[in-house]
Amino acid sequence: MLGLGIESTAHTFSCAILEKKGKKGKILSDIRKIYRPPDGEGIHPREASRHHAENSSEVLSECLQKAGVKINDLDIISYAAGPGLGPCLRIGAVVARSLASYYKIPVYPVNHALGHIELGKMLTGAKDPLVLLVSGGHTMILAFLSKKWRVFGETLDITLGQLLDQIGRSAGFASPCGTKIEELAAKSTNYVNLPYVVKGNDVSFSGLLSATKQIIPKGLEDACFSLQETAFAMIGEATERALSFTGKKELLIVGGVAANKRLSEILQSVCKRHNCKFFVSPRQYAGDCGSQISWTGLLESSIKQGVPLEETFVRQSWRLDTVEVMY
Ligand code: AMP
Ligand code: MG
Repeated sequence: MLGLGIESTAHTFSCAILEKKGKKGKILSDIRKIYRPPDGEGIHPREASRHHAENSSEVLSECLQKAGVKINDLDIISYAAGPGLGPCLRIGAVVARSLASYYKIPVYPVNHALGHIELGKMLTGAKDPLVLLVSGGHTMILAFLSKKWRVFGETLDITLGQLLDQIGRSAGFASPCGTKIEELAAKSTNYVNLPYVVKGNDVSFSGLLSATKQIIPKGLEDACFSLQETAFAMIGEATERALSFTGKKELLIVGGVAANKRLSEILQSVCKRHNCKFFVSPRQYAGDCGSQISWTGLLESSIKQGVPLEETFVRQSWRLDTVEVMY
């Protein structure tokens, strides 16, 4: 089975082609173009969607060319139908719908968060993990039970990715800022006290955001170091409690923030204490990409027909814990 996946939920427009043979998947191509707002500014949904519209045909043709595949060879087309920014989501949906209707190929709307998890599982070999999804759009601790990914902890306000990006932007960096903050944090070992807020098994980052902004003028590297140590320790505590509660023997981190080495170090030590295997999405596929969408669509196609064209809409606030996973 050959599947095209289209991702356009936020800053990234990406097309990927994967081949599924039995339970195995192979990435044939994964092409991305990322919308970069001016330094110090966040994503403007209209500008990001303009970026996606202008780049979609180039990304699609490069993706087909690299995979050595013609559109007619595709068995299915999948697109990220949500959650995400409405204007951005609509570009991916329009591309998917147009190709599907013209070439008569079955089309699959895919939940973006599920895409992060399924590709992470496929690439790492994790079977039944507790999942930590940390990205620009999500901060969630999840475990699979009775056909759904259930939430065992999440952010009560902004996501971990937003926290890092907002701090970075206030220091004048180009968004996304996680990598830059990681580099600066590695240059300090001077911890400055910051608010640490874990409520039950949920975390709250808004107080940490304001307090970190206040200490930036006293030393950017110390601020980045202290921010990472505080935020990652909070996530570590919530994850450890969920591991202990669910008794899972695998932990998988997915989402753009999974690229952070310090976060992995902290979670690896949590896993050691619980005799649990540690998996992290490969850096190249941790952030948003078409492969996540293509692979999830291919999994769904093993038990479900595609949807009629009139149902190829987008859902900006489509929560993962409402999705039934039947494959
Ligand atoms: P996604 O929404 O999955 O594409 O993830 C994007 C988020 O990942 C952004 O908030 C980035 O700042 C963040 N990110 C990317 N690389 C790193 C890193 N090395 N450390 C921390 N955060 C990162
Ligand atoms: Mg994402």
